Amino acid sequence: MRAYDIIAKKRDKKALSKDEINFFINGYTAGDIADYQASALLMAIYLNGMTPQETVWLTYAMACSGEMIDLSEINGIKVDKHSTGGVGDKTTLIVAPVIASLKIPFAKMSGRGLGHTGGTIDKLESIPGFSASLSSSQFIDNVKNAYIALTSQSANLTPADRKLYSLRDSTATVSCIPLIASSIISKKIAGGADKILLDVKTGTGAFMKTFDESLELAKEMVMLGKNLGRQTVALISDMDKPLGNNIGNSLEVIEAIETLKGRGPADLWELCDRICIQMIIMAKGCTQKEARQMIEHSIKSGSALDKFKEFIIMQNGDDRVIDDYSVFSQAKYEYPLIAVRSGFIGSMHAESIGRAAMILGAGREKKEDNIDPAAGICLYKKTGDYVEKDTTLAMLYTNKPGAEKEALKILGSSIKYSDNKSRMREIVLAMVTASETIVYGLQKN
Ligand code: URA
Repeated sequence: MRAYDIIAKKRDKKALSKDEINFFINGYTAGDIADYQASALLMAIYLNGMTPQETVWLTYAMACSGEMIDLSEINGIKVDKHSTGGVGDKTTLIVAPVIASLKIPFAKMSGRGLGHTGGTIDKLESIPGFSASLSSSQFIDNVKNAYIALTSQSANLTPADRKLYSLRDSTATVSCIPLIASSIISKKIAGGADKILLDVKTGTGAFMKTFDESLELAKEMVMLGKNLGRQTVALISDMDKPLGNNIGNSLEVIEAIETLKGRGPADLWELCDRICIQMIIMAKGCTQKEARQMIEHSIKSGSALDKFKEFIIMQNGDDRVIDDYSVFSQAKYEYPLIAVRSGFIGSMHAESIGRAAMILGAGREKKEDNIDPAAGICLYKKTGDYVEKDTTLAMLYTNKPGAEKEALKILGSSIKYSDNKSRMREIVLAMVTASETIVYGLQKN
């Protein structure tokens, strides 16, 4: 078999066989196939697509390219949760302790943030002392003892995806549904969970900007999960505006703690509730009503908050953060964003808000950049709210002198005013399972 013939076959719009896909992925992972040949194949896939069967084979070949995590020692059904990434998305910090408080194992590998989107591991590391690099035995022990563990992605998980993803980044082949879906699902398969709940974001702050693209990606991933033996459900959720009010690492942990105390913003809570409901149904096979009651009890009784505290202690973090937010590192400078006119907020460009937070120090432009746990933005008003001229719309926090100028400019121009309150779209726009797609309310961007 030759890489050349495989590239030529895809160039000529023919479907590749399982052996050809395995040959290419194994050869590329081992360094026997060069970047220029992999780039050519990626572009051929980008232009000519893949059949569902080819995408399944590609996903499995990538999943098997490195370590496959074995969670079979942990009793119970392990449901993994994955978000395609957005601005202010701290749902894992809330969902994980709620699920674990119900004695459903939550064992998750998470990533770091890049560009305008944040990463769960960076958020958790804003808790003084918190360790996100657990050995596999610590990871398994923590889940066995307390039903919860979160660790950074193992260096040897899906090496084929790591190599291909950076090649896609530099060859304009990222935005291709079979390549995105196989990249995400290969990591979930290698991560060892029994079932997968996907939160596919849609809107200006998301990877997929339109509802139709997000729906297509969700369907492809649900199909892949099913074909690889993992029940997979996807929710499609709004990312036209940031989720919740806080953007930035410690600010997001504080908002998550507030939510676990039952005082979080409505949009954030609604999404967490919907994600938890699906995960509980998948793990326990109960009804929606029963799942909702369990969640309500977990929050009202304080058991989700206690679980978060236990989790922080187990991973060496300073649990005083639960009751005293001054334990987090604090930003030296704060600046208000002032409303330039009265009116309703018609829209907020989520990606620009994420960029503004990144400029303040909350995110990374390049993988090697350091992040500042204290930097970020608190939004006092969001889309649909009425604002009076000269009142404060948001507060910016930074340790970088001068960074506020560009951040304030970007943030200011990301907000559009309107004389009338526009109709708001739902936070959860659709749910995709292997057997049906349910679309809720208004989906237009
Ligand atoms: N996230 C991934 O893990 N892979 C992609 O291709 C896109 C988003």
